[in-house]
Amino acid sequence: MTPQHSVVLRRGDSGAAVAAVRERLVLSGDLPAADLGPARDDHAVFDHEVEEAVKSFQQRRGLIVDGIVGRSTYAVLDGSRWGLGDRVLRYVPEYFIEGDDVVALQGRLAELGFTPGKVDGIHGPNTDSALRAFQAAVGLTPDGTAGPETMRAFAGLRRSVSGGSANALREREHLRRSGYSLSGRTIVLDPGHGGTDAGADGHHGLVESSLALDLARRVEGRLSAHGVSVVFTRTEATDGGTDEERAAFANSCDADLVLSLHTDHSDSGLAHGAATYFYGHPDHARRGDWSVIGESFADLLLREVVARTGLTDCRSHARTWPLLRRTRMPAVRLDFGYLSHDGDAAALADAHTLDRVAEAVVVALQRVYLGEADTSRTGVLRLDDLRRHLETMRAQQVAGGHGAPGSGAAGRDRTQRADRTVG
Ligand SMILES: [Zn+2]
Repeated sequence: MTPQHSVVLRRGDSGAAVAAVRERLVLSGDLPAADLGPARDDHAVFDHEVEEAVKSFQQRRGLIVDGIVGRSTYAVLDGSRWGLGDRVLRYVPEYFIEGDDVVALQGRLAELGFTPGKVDGIHGPNTDSALRAFQAAVGLTPDGTAGPETMRAFAGLRRSVSGGSANALREREHLRRSGYSLSGRTIVLDPGHGGTDAGADGHHGLVESSLALDLARRVEGRLSAHGVSVVFTRTEATDGGTDEERAAFANSCDADLVLSLHTDHSDSGLAHGAATYFYGHPDHARRGDWSVIGESFADLLLREVVARTGLTDCRSHARTWPLLRRTRMPAVRLDFGYLSHDGDAAALADAHTLDRVAEAVVVALQRVYLGEADTSRTGVLRLDDLRRHLETMRAQQVAGGHGAPGSGAAGRDRTQRADRTVG
C-alpha cells in the first residue's frame, strides 16, 4: 500500500482500498483468514466484521477506537506488517517511513547506546543521526541506510541491555543533568479543540474548548512566575489544527514538555472523574517503547489533581494518540472531569477548582524535575514549601559534592535507582 494521507474508510465503503485494509487485518490477526473477502479487490466490502476488527486493532495499538480507518490508523496498520530486515529503512525527509520495523530499529539503536529519540516507529531525523552514528561506530559507511550490511552488524553485536531500560535510563539521566529547576524551560500548553470545534458541552453552561483555555491561562500565570516560557497551541481566536499539527508545532518550539487539556464526556451522564494519558502501547510490557517521563508526569499530575479537587481517579493510561506519539518531547493529556456529569461540572464551574487544577499542574511538573529526591506527600505541598525543599536539596547537593553525572560506578548506581522509582 502506498501512503494515502487523505483516505478515510468506514463501514459501508468498498473497493480496492478496503481489500488492502482487510488483508492487513488478517495479517495482524484481527480478522480471521477466512474473511479475506472476494477474490476481486473491487468487490471488497467494509462490513461489520471489518469494523470490529479495526476496533480490536485500534484497542491493542492504543489508537482512538472508532472503527474508522483514518490517517493514523492507516499508517499504523500499514506499518504493522513489516519486520526488521524486510525492507531497507532510511530517512526520507518528505515522508517519514513508519512501521513496526522502525520500532525494532529504534529499539536496537537505543539498546546499543545510540539515542534515536522517542521509540515511536517513525523514521525521522533523530533516528537518522542515531543510525549514522551506529554505522560509523561499527566501521560501516555512515549513509543512514539500514540495509543488509547494517542488519548483519546488528546481528553480530550482543545486546548490552535488553528491553527499554537503556532508553529509560537515558531519559532519566538527561532529566537529572538538566537540573531540578523549572526556570528556563519551555512548556507547550495545548487547550483542546478551538475554532469551530468547541469540544463537548455539558451542565452549567460549560463548554470544553473555553474551559480548557481558561485552565491553560491559570497554568500559564503560575508557570511564568517560575520563569517558565509558556507557548499555547491556540488562543481564543485561532484554531489549533489537528493533533498532528499541534505535535509539529510543539516540535518546532523545541519544548521540554507538552500538556494537552481536555474534559471528557459520556452519553449516560454517569461517568465522572479525571484521567491522564502518556505515550505508550497499552501492552507496553511487550516492547520498551513508551515515554518514561511522560508516564511519570501523567501519574504525578493525576495524583495531585485528585488530591486537590476531589475528582475521582480514573487512572493514568498509555496511548498512541497522534499528539502523544508525534511529539519529540514527553507529552501528557489531562482530562479534568466529565462535563456530562452534574457533580464534575458543578465543581468545574467554580473557578477555585480550576485554580487547584492549575496548581496541581505546576507542583506535578516540579516533582517530575525533582525526580527521585522528592519524597513529599501528594496534595499537601504548597508551592512555597516546594521552593524551600528545592533550596535545601541544592544546598545538600553542593555540600555532598558528588562527581559529574554518570561518571564512574557511583553515577551509574544513582541513575539505576532513579529508574527503579519510576515503575
Ligand atoms: Zn476534548
